[in-house]
Amino acid sequence: MAFEGLATRLQSVFSKLRGKGKLTEDDVNEALREVRLALLEADVNFKVVKDFVAKVREKAIGQEVLQSFTPAMVVVDIVNKELTELMGGTQSKLARSNRPPTVIMMAGLQGAGKTTTSGKLAKMLQQQNHRPLLAAADIYRPAAIKQLQVLGEQLKVPVFTLGDQISPVEIAKSAWQHAKENGNDYLIIDTAGRLHIDEALMEELRNIAAEVKPDEILFVVDSMTGQEAVNVAESFHKQLELTGVVLTKMDSDTRGGAALSVKAVTGCPIKFVATGEKLDALEPFYPDRMASRILG
Ligand code: GDP
Repeated sequence: MAFEGLATRLQSVFSKLRGKGKLTEDDVNEALREVRLALLEADVNFKVVKDFVAKVREKAIGQEVLQSFTPAMVVVDIVNKELTELMGGTQSKLARSNRPPTVIMMAGLQGAGKTTTSGKLAKMLQQQNHRPLLAAADIYRPAAIKQLQVLGEQLKVPVFTLGDQISPVEIAKSAWQHAKENGNDYLIIDTAGRLHIDEALMEELRNIAAEVKPDEILFVVDSMTGQEAVNVAESFHKQLELTGVVLTKMDSDTRGGAALSVKAVTGCPIKFVATGEKLDALEPFYPDRMASRILG
């Protein structure tokens, strides 16, 4: 399960703190040292950890906290609030345009889970009584169009394709027209990914975005890649003005670093987490629930 190591470590730090009753400044400092190590081990960005611990320390060390009846609980509460803030504070919802279709462009490296997540998102929207259209704009990976078509058939969601001989910008533009004419209120564009960031791909993505002016550019990233996920998100964000992040493979044994750092580093909120290969394995991301899960 995601975060298991981090959750276990933090829970043990705080259970030790609770055992002490009254706390001294040294007790809190010692606990925060352990929190810092636990976060670094979970692959959270170094600067993010430093700022996080400084914020908690500022709030936790003071007469008010130390002399309260249950100082350890107050400290845990401060950590909980700061963790929630770190992950974006409140839930960040999917955009909805008042001039449909709402356009969602999916971006990310190859294998991150873009195509699968496009299908999952279509399913989620369909369950909310929307009429999504999926568009296949990944013309380079031979199986990508077919993969999206298969997902569409499973979900009974239409899939717009023009094959692999037309430019992705043209495909996106025609898909938008198709959505407009057919009353699809959401258009989800699955784009190409590469194994690494690549200027030609970035330019293509920027051109698609300039053409269809997405309401959302969701960056899909494999949470297992930890700090690397955050670095790639930052590079994409510089080029594309991402509006949100989808962390995939949260069902795997991810240490949690990406989930905890990506908002602080890029400014982009996590909007969804994917927790499996099945089409219903997509959940909106709630920072407060995630923080509580980590703290047990
Ligand atoms: P794309 O290249 O970004 O379009 O990636 P795909 O959508 O083809 O996904 C790559 C692989 O990751 C596929 O085998 C998916 O089934 C798998 N995958 C996607 N999301 C998840 C997830 O949340 N959990 C797990 N375990 N596997 C996932």
